[in-house]
Amino acid sequence: MTRAFVALGSNLGDPQRQMDDAVSALARLPDTRVVKRSSLYRTQPWGVLEQPPFINAAVELDTGLAPLALLDAMLEIEKAAGRVRAQRNGPRTLDLDLLHLDGVRMDDARLTLPHPRMAERAFVLLPLHDLAPTLALPGGTVAQLLARLDRGGCERLP
Ligand code: ADP
Ligand code: MG
Repeated sequence: MTRAFVALGSNLGDPQRQMDDAVSALARLPDTRVVKRSSLYRTQPWGVLEQPPFINAAVELDTGLAPLALLDAMLEIEKAAGRVRAQRNGPRTLDLDLLHLDGVRMDDARLTLPHPRMAERAFVLLPLHDLAPTLALPGGTVAQLLARLDRGGCERLP
């Protein structure tokens, strides 16, 4: 089994419901168990500003799936939530990003690990910090990387 961290985001439809369904779907994957999930955060959009705020979260998994098999399963879960890829950084019913798999570094056409853009995104690192503040990423631990970022526009939901 390998430890994995997945980021979830949504700003269309019923984000909390879609994210609950996504966590249930991840828990049903073969050889996979959900270890822990983060709080939910309401965050301001990034890149494309004229869209609703996002709900973001992260989950920690133990999985026996190979990296690309896990990615494919995540893309299927996005599709089941009605994900349409219309605009880069645009609104979406569900986004699932594979942030980190223990011991895995790869730069495949379809999958880069660790996820290359997480260090500059408070909306990714804040929920990940709930799960694994001391996890070592390129450039430092989750806590160290988060300390360098502006968390304005990110609010923890009760
Ligand atoms: P983004 O999440 O950057 O807004 P998308 O969700 O549309 O963009 O993802 C585009 C593609 O990124 C996916 O089809 C996938 O093949 C690729 N990708 C590369 N590395 C990763 C990763 N670590 N996690 C998720 N997707 C990845
Ligand atoms: Mg994505």
